[in-house]
Amino acid sequence: MALVTMTDMLQKAKGEKYAVGAFNIVDYNSLRAVVQVAEALKAPVIVQTSVKTVRFWGPSTIVSWLREIASESPIPVALHLDHCKEVDYIKTCIDAGWTSVMIDASAKPFEENLAATRQAAELADAAGVSVEAEMGRIVGVEDDIFVAEHDAHLADVDEAVAFCKDLNLAVFAPAIGTAHGVYKGEPKIAFDRIEEIARRTGLPIALHGGTGLADEVFRKAISLGCAKVNISTAIKYAFIDGFVDDYNANRKYEPLGPLGAQLDCVGQVVTQNIKLFGSEGKV
Ligand SMILES: [Zn+2]
Repeated sequence: MALVTMTDMLQKAKGEKYAVGAFNIVDYNSLRAVVQVAEALKAPVIVQTSVKTVRFWGPSTIVSWLREIASESPIPVALHLDHCKEVDYIKTCIDAGWTSVMIDASAKPFEENLAATRQAAELADAAGVSVEAEMGRIVGVEDDIFVAEHDAHLADVDEAVAFCKDLNLAVFAPAIGTAHGVYKGEPKIAFDRIEEIARRTGLPIALHGGTGLADEVFRKAISLGCAKVNISTAIKYAFIDGFVDDYNANRKYEPLGPLGAQLDCVGQVVTQNIKLFGSEGKV
């Protein structure tokens, strides 16, 4: 199967009340771990890249990896650009072959966020690419986006409905109390807003900051309309720890050993999450 957009996979997920895992890869090895596990579990999957990762490797390199891996794959794979603040860079990635993009103008006032999102959505529509947009402020540290906790506010339901109207979004990311990075305390999730926004917009909801939430939180959020769950921090930990722990255990300058351990370690995180989100066997 070729690379696909997120639209159909997320509509199906929302309808059947499971979520598709969106995993942030950082290189070929982490990409391979994500796709291999999704294939083994017969699960649709979203491969996500931060803007920082795309700038590090260059857009064409990442697309060439994905095409090599996904063109022969029996499962649907979407290549999604995570949190991009610049419409120009969204265009660069669409032109390079991304099948899905997230415009994040959530730091701007409502009207400016809407204008930037509309601009990105027009580019994406013309190219047949799916779009995710954010409203409200999701706390935490991600790339160069830092939102101090006191600065955070949840998405207002009426504003969210007004925002999504007339935009052809595949998925919507309202701030609902989750955070990027590692949770310091018990997060307070606004489940009522997930349910109301999902119902009134008719859109699948994206859950950001998925690392470290309790299993019941995922299950409840998914039952209320979350159909895309982002996992980034847990992948970063598995990627580094998998390599370093194997080296420390063996102390050999043989890179394929720790690289194999890294592949397994990232794969375990992906396995655990796909099973938890209920997307296993949905292909
Ligand atoms: Zn995010």
